[in-house]
Amino acid sequence: MSDWNALRQDCAACTACPLAATRKNVVFGVGQESAEVLFVGEGPGANEDAMGEPFVGAAGQLLDRMLAGVGLSREKNLYIANIVKCRPPGNRDPLPEEQDACIGWLRQQTALLRPKIIVCLGRVAACRLIAPEFKVTRQHGQFVEKNGVWLMGTLHPAAILRNPTQKAAAFADLVALRDKIEDVCEHTALCFD
Ligand code: SF4
Repeated sequence: MSDWNALRQDCAACTACPLAATRKNVVFGVGQESAEVLFVGEGPGANEDAMGEPFVGAAGQLLDRMLAGVGLSREKNLYIANIVKCRPPGNRDPLPEEQDACIGWLRQQTALLRPKIIVCLGRVAACRLIAPEFKVTRQHGQFVEKNGVWLMGTLHPAAILRNPTQKAAAFADLVALRDKIEDVCEHTALCFD
């Protein structure tokens, strides 16, 4: 059994926080297990909970279309996971104690993946992984290096659906990401088919 399969199985049985009681599925993550680019959201919504995959609702479809515009896809060259693997009821933000309980799974995913770049989708992920006071509206698109990994926060696709005027700014962040991939990644092949 690969390390990824073992980790996925262990995570699927996790009951380390109260979100285990109301989930339908643990949403572990999806994508290429050799990807150099990791996207991290905050937690599953209703569609993701039902299907067991991150970013599969309307926001996920928007994300996939925007990623395709810069040659990225979850099938080919990136990995997507969340800070918490089980759905917070009512789509509320995951509580700090839920994030604390769950972050070890993301750490283990990151250790297996060893990404060159981590993109935080929205405030919760950016505050957790980049800086506690991160302001997405002001700091999105800016790269910071931590321990040899480049991190960037961008707008959450659900926020873009609520406020489509933000779409151009979010796409500019992805263009900056494409440039950073070309600078620092070793084997990521952008695909435009
Ligand atoms: S949210 Fe994370 S810590 Fe809580 S039960 Fe699910 S997998 Fe375990």
